[in-house]
Amino acid sequence: MPGLSIYTQQTVLAVPKPMSLISPWRADFPGILALAAEGQTYLDSAATAQKPQAMLDALLGYYAGGAANVHRAQHLPGERATRAFEATREKVARWLNAPSAQQIIFTRSATEAFNLLAYGLEQRLQPGDEIVISALEHHANLLPWQQLALRRQLKLVVLSLDQHGLIDLAQAAQLIGPRTRLLAVSQLSNVLGCWQPLEPLLALAQAQGALTVVDGTQGVVHGRQDVQALGCDFYICSSHKLYGPDGVGLLYGRTHALEQLAHWQLGGEMLLHTDYSSASFRPAPLGFEAGTPPIASVIALGASLDYLNSLNASAVSAHEAALHSQLITGLQQRQGLRLLGTPTVALVSFVVDAVHHADLAHLLTEQGIAVRAGHHCAMPLLQGLGLSGAIRVSLGLYNDGSDLQRFFSALDQALELLQ
Ligand SMILES: *Cc1c(COP(=O)(O)O)cnc(C)c1O
Repeated sequence: MPGLSIYTQQTVLAVPKPMSLISPWRADFPGILALAAEGQTYLDSAATAQKPQAMLDALLGYYAGGAANVHRAQHLPGERATRAFEATREKVARWLNAPSAQQIIFTRSATEAFNLLAYGLEQRLQPGDEIVISALEHHANLLPWQQLALRRQLKLVVLSLDQHGLIDLAQAAQLIGPRTRLLAVSQLSNVLGCWQPLEPLLALAQAQGALTVVDGTQGVVHGRQDVQALGCDFYICSSHKLYGPDGVGLLYGRTHALEQLAHWQLGGEMLLHTDYSSASFRPAPLGFEAGTPPIASVIALGASLDYLNSLNASAVSAHEAALHSQLITGLQQRQGLRLLGTPTVALVSFVVDAVHHADLAHLLTEQGIAVRAGHHCAMPLLQGLGLSGAIRVSLGLYNDGSDLQRFFSALDQALELLQ
């Protein structure tokens, strides 16, 4: 990827603010407090977020109150579990502004949702058809399409990035054409931390009658999303990055798009009728939720969404903006440090001239700084930048100025040793 620009320390003029930033929500997250008590500074929320107490209470409450399977039972515990489970579907629909809860499918992860789509659309694609992705996609939004293309002799088209790390719209206008059957792109890169120009991209694909898939796994964490305003056919995100439990992915689909999917995992719950020679399947969502779902996790995700809904949204975004600017300002002041792309949220990747990312990560780890080092599940992106890896710092709403202070002082000590 020639020409992807990076900040240098010369662009910095601002004087750093004192790191007095307080998170009013920190005490709601026992995990962040437990890690801090252990001397660990958690700066890896883009990999998975810490959980609010309300979510832990809901998780324990479901089991301690009497577990029961959903949808089949007529008894009280079963009805109660079903009601709580379906209430989360309603909450997710409201969270994403989906027209109906029936358009929300629970999967086991965002990764599983991409695989569901690739399998579900396979028979609709013909040799020579084109699937368009971008150069910054997470492996979850690359490998299912790549392998589908190999199986069906499709062409996988990869859109390049401009010098800011944004998908190049001029090139997209050239490459999205009558053979394009599907566009699958990320809303917010998990490496570069910048919002992508989805509106014009989706319009290009829709003008060709192609289906559109948005990877909202990071986007949904950093701002309220509206799938109807976005106008995509499918939107995928994940509970565990949205302050919910792991084991739950979310797939939103427009009704006409969901109707195009072949059923994939087969088994209990997803069928209407079967005998030994044939079967008929339910429509979405239950037709795509074979077997016992992650009941406790889905119910607990509902509690996470209630918690997030209870927060003052403008205070949350002001806090995240402050974390972002203090992080960027601090990084830009370090000699030889280069940011990848132009991050606009508190999710930032960087490299340091003449310092191997693994050496730096090792020294940060030794000082209790939990950042991520490597290719961040986007190997082709890093390769395209000519890098074997980078360090990523990603913050959640529980992080505060003291975390940043510890990070920068550990960074300075490490750089003194290495540079
Ligand atoms: C984490 C992530 C995924 C995969 O999500 P899982 O639920 O962990 O499978 C996909 N895309 C992006 C951009 C991610 O950050």
